Amino acid sequence: MVQSSILGFPRMGVNRDLKKATEAYWAGKLSQQELLAEGKRLRAEHWKIQKDAGVDIIPSNDFSYYDHVLDHIQLFGATPPRYTQHNLDPIDEFFAMGRGHQKPQTDKGPAVDVPSLEMVKWFDSNYHYVKPTLQDGQKFKLNANPKPVVEFLEAKEAGVVTRPVLLGPVSFLTLGKADRGQKVDPIDLLQDLLPVYEELLVKLKEAGAETVQIDEPVLVFDLPPRVKNSFKPAYEKLGNLGDKAPKLVFATYFGDIVHNIDVLQSLQNLYAIHIDVVRNPEQLETVIGALGPKQTLSVGVVDGRNIWKTNFKKAIEKVEVATQKLGKDRVLVASSSSLLHTPHTLASEKKLDAEVKDWFSFACEKAKELTIIAKAVTDGPASVRDEMEANAKSVEARATSKRTNDPKVKERQAKITDEMFERKSPFPTRIAQQQSSLNLPMFPTTTIGSFPQTKDIRIQRNKFTKGEITAEEYEKFIEKEIQDVVKIQEELGLDVYVHGEPERNDMVQYFGERLTGYVFTTHAWVQSYGSRCVRPPIIVGDISRPEPMTVKESKYAASISNKPMKGMLTGPITCLRWSFPRDDIHQSEQAQQLALALRDEVIDLEAAGIFVIQVDEPALREGLPLRSGLAREDYLSWAVKSFRLSVAGVKDSTQIHSHFCYSEFQDFFSAIAALDADVLSIENSKSDAKLLKVFVDEAYPRHIGPGVYDIHSPRIPSEQEVKDRVQEMLEYLSPEQLWVDPDCGLKTRQWPETKAALTNMVNAAKFFRAKY
Ligand code: GLN
Ligand code: ZN
Repeated sequence: MVQSSILGFPRMGVNRDLKKATEAYWAGKLSQQELLAEGKRLRAEHWKIQKDAGVDIIPSNDFSYYDHVLDHIQLFGATPPRYTQHNLDPIDEFFAMGRGHQKPQTDKGPAVDVPSLEMVKWFDSNYHYVKPTLQDGQKFKLNANPKPVVEFLEAKEAGVVTRPVLLGPVSFLTLGKADRGQKVDPIDLLQDLLPVYEELLVKLKEAGAETVQIDEPVLVFDLPPRVKNSFKPAYEKLGNLGDKAPKLVFATYFGDIVHNIDVLQSLQNLYAIHIDVVRNPEQLETVIGALGPKQTLSVGVVDGRNIWKTNFKKAIEKVEVATQKLGKDRVLVASSSSLLHTPHTLASEKKLDAEVKDWFSFACEKAKELTIIAKAVTDGPASVRDEMEANAKSVEARATSKRTNDPKVKERQAKITDEMFERKSPFPTRIAQQQSSLNLPMFPTTTIGSFPQTKDIRIQRNKFTKGEITAEEYEKFIEKEIQDVVKIQEELGLDVYVHGEPERNDMVQYFGERLTGYVFTTHAWVQSYGSRCVRPPIIVGDISRPEPMTVKESKYAASISNKPMKGMLTGPITCLRWSFPRDDIHQSEQAQQLALALRDEVIDLEAAGIFVIQVDEPALREGLPLRSGLAREDYLSWAVKSFRLSVAGVKDSTQIHSHFCYSEFQDFFSAIAALDADVLSIENSKSDAKLLKVFVDEAYPRHIGPGVYDIHSPRIPSEQEVKDRVQEMLEYLSPEQLWVDPDCGLKTRQWPETKAALTNMVNAAKFFRAKY
């Protein structure tokens, strides 16, 4: 029979219970014991959900109080020394690595002030993991109470025999880095790390685990030979422990492994291989061909990254490609990846329109889908006839719904011409006109859009959403906020103003709510990092803009300002990437629809007298396909085109800005240049000014504002610091092209530090203005 399996379940709980518990613990409002009890309750609840759904193979050790990679750092005794020297309780040491630890000096001990370890995006998802940070001569030691064993036993006691999940040694090391000042290449530590895995596997077997899922997602990357060649020795060792250890399910996801298929051939001693055939169905046959004669294939057909109901017929077809070759006993039906990236349950959505609700499936619903697909393959589709029929009906309803298809949008897309991607004149002509009309000084200062989102703003917004104040009252309130920030900017002496974005709840949701084709949930939270969750809007159909989205606020702001007011939009790629996209049409189509909607907005802003318009694209880079080559080129081509389509409708004298929260452009610089934005504002305060060298090397002619201070911390940079920063930048950029601005929007900051920092920033700009 074909068994159903899940690679990992969301951790937060139905009401973001884990977020609430960890944050209460950090605030000192919950004891450690209470936190641990809450974790235990959530794990039990999640096992039960999967068991009740009928899932055959249920994961354990997929739970984490912060991040599963961080769990492994502690599990292997790889905590950097700066965290271990304070005699913190293990769980506090764990959180210290995740989020830093600050404690004033007391009579019991000296002050502690350690920043967190680096946190980066998990593959191309919006989940962030904590980077293993390793020392020269790093030693590993298995934790005395290994979490995977503890949680396996806990599940067993609760009546569920689970399949523990481990991050594999090659991925653990490859996703890590050498600590500051250390030279070690992490993969060189493999031989030292393997005995710890061996010991852990033996312990899991002693506890009763028959199989273990060992995640090696890095196999989907283009790997340097040293890394690629390390799979063979690693899994010769871990796969040949015989009866002493559980059987291993080697799991890959978020990409295909065809380019590394030779690696697979050296893993034929392992019990099973898992692949993601939602993302890369084309790899199925090749992988089947590379399996060993007894090896099992776990076929990931239920999407762990999106919220759409699985098309049973198509999923079953894929699984049957495998069963026909391998037989039913050598095939598992699985989620494509962990379900961590999907919300908990659709049952919480009380406000969703019934029509679209029927198209979705969150983690709890996906668990059921898996058991139905497994049964259909095992006993034939007739054994689940009702479910199959309901599914086919729902798939059909979505495909033919008016909400999905808007012929007007398609018509407009068909009429896009080449000229629509081009500004009227090249940059030198444009900038000359902009300079004469905007009349900006050298080293112009500006901010990235948002000003502090105060408690008062949130209270008024809530009141308005709940209907406790009228639209007019809310509008008056927003106008007052805009007046305040305009006045503050005047006092600070900034050169290009912003309206402060007080009316925006979130930079993507705000636009989604004003576009057709989007729907919103009330509870569909997904973990982003630690206790932080996001609730991405869902693109269900063709996108269009019924009416202007931002013109009212920008126009009002401009009307009370004595300096240029910058309009502020979220770009097409960011609107797409920070939503759950449709899976029935290509993402490039969706980006193009968003671009057309934004294009209208840009033109309307210009008509309303806004002559500086910023289109933010902080998500451009994370959409970059994981491997270089054709897929990446293709992505960059449509991503750049959609940006250009959104902004190119303006006159030469209107200045287009774009903003990114990073400065690592080295691997896709030509795409950044191809955006043809008049001004780029980028992150640079946390990275090396040397990164700006790429602009010199490529003779980038346009204007750039590399952020001069970090807005993620309340710390106020001194005027001298900002001057030093600008001076460093001038080694790479000409004074004519340099703007002075912070790293990102200021919405998470408080007013006092914001004013102080911007005062120092403006003074630094004035200093350079006098000098040149
Ligand atoms: N304009 C947005 C803001 O200032 C940009 C945010 C971002 O880049 N993440 O908040
Ligand atoms: Zn930013």
